[in-house]
Amino acid sequence: MFEINFNEQQLLIQKTVRDFSENEIKPVVIKFDEAEEFPLEIFTKLGEMGFLGILVPEKYGGSELGYVDYAMIVEEIAKVDPSIALSVAAHNGLCTNHILLFGNEKQKEKYLPDLATGRKIGIWGLTEPTSGSDAGSLLTTAEKRGNKYYLNGSKSFATHGTVGQTAVIMAKIDKEKGKHGISAFIVEKTFPGFIVGKKENKLGCRACETTQLAFENCEIPEENLLGAEGEGFINSLKVLEGGRISIAAMALGIAEGACEACVKYSKERKQFGKFLSEFQATQFKLADMKTAIEAARLLLYRAASAKDEGKDINLIASQAKLFASEAAVKITNEAIQIHGGYGFIKEFPVEKFYRDVKLTTIGEGTSEIQRIVIAKSLLESL
Ligand SMILES: Cc1cc2nc3c(=O)[nH]c(=O)nc-3n(C[C@H](O)[C@H](O)[C@H](O)COP(=O)(O)OP(=O)(O)OC[C@H]3O[C@@H](n4cnc5c(N)ncnc54)[C@H](O)[C@@H]3O)c2cc1C
Repeated sequence: MFEINFNEQQLLIQKTVRDFSENEIKPVVIKFDEAEEFPLEIFTKLGEMGFLGILVPEKYGGSELGYVDYAMIVEEIAKVDPSIALSVAAHNGLCTNHILLFGNEKQKEKYLPDLATGRKIGIWGLTEPTSGSDAGSLLTTAEKRGNKYYLNGSKSFATHGTVGQTAVIMAKIDKEKGKHGISAFIVEKTFPGFIVGKKENKLGCRACETTQLAFENCEIPEENLLGAEGEGFINSLKVLEGGRISIAAMALGIAEGACEACVKYSKERKQFGKFLSEFQATQFKLADMKTAIEAARLLLYRAASAKDEGKDINLIASQAKLFASEAAVKITNEAIQIHGGYGFIKEFPVEKFYRDVKLTTIGEGTSEIQRIVIAKSLLESL
């Protein structure tokens, strides 16, 4: 049977993140959410603590930890603020990890130390206005002239588009080859032709900024091609596979945060002369929450452990993300119900969990896309 046994170092990391989240993040969660402001100071501190280069080897300035640690860190932050958890997940798992997995030695030496320490923040651009789930149909082009590539097109939903400095952008060199014509490029914000567009006004995760980007003859030196020409899409899928672990961790953390808030509230609030926790209707809701949380936890850490062991996680990562995110959406919905009218106002954390959680069924592959992956694997296995 699969069991999660954190070792001593992991328990210490968990305590460190928990304390930081409680003491430094909790007091300012609402402030940054309402202002839709990226909490740069907090992010910088997370970088100093080693949580922005979680998977990056020490020789490039990272913490050289594994996916179990990564999931645990995102889970702990999400219990308090899903926005910051999403930023940590996107920074570590997308831009930084793409360079780590597919960069050459020179690229890793040049870009990873700043990303791993948070001196620079990462952006990852796959999604476009007309291509989301069908990412292989993207339209941004890259044309080689002399020793430079020139990028033209636009990207949507780029996390950290405004605050970030280093981007990995997917573009098509050869349109005839469809998704096999897609390549990845490391694009610095200062390269001519890199345009930051509108910042989106979002339902949730409002402190984690999401921006449109445009490229107008954006000039990229040829040495910034990331991976081989034509391998950008297939490499992106590998990046997203690991990313799904972090979104499942985010969902788990939100579910736990919401459940904890419900236990506390139900022991404080009295109606008809009884605490809410004394009503069986409340107890059943809490029992269902706790059971779904444990199931999500097992799937998540099984996927994270398998990744650390170098196993193929295509199926299990999709299952973990699908289950954890769908369960977390249901749990935050019930959490508002348990709080009654007080769940509907911003003084109580469940209001924000309810808004923030929806991202987890959409980002890094929607629930429908996860189901496609799972069904394909099942149908091919028999
Ligand atoms: C807050 C936020 C941050 C994000 N950050 C990034 C980022 O940093 N970088 C990046 O590249 N992208 C990012 N994204 C984009 C995200 O990955 C996409 O939103 C997601 O992949 C879905 O694409 P879409 O929004 O275009 O929806 P669509 O693909 O248009 O999907 C709409 C609906 O149709 C369903 N659907 C689509 N195809 C099928 C099918 N074949 N079968 C069944 N149902 C289907 C979907 O599941 C969904 O329910 C972010 C999104 C958000 C909301």
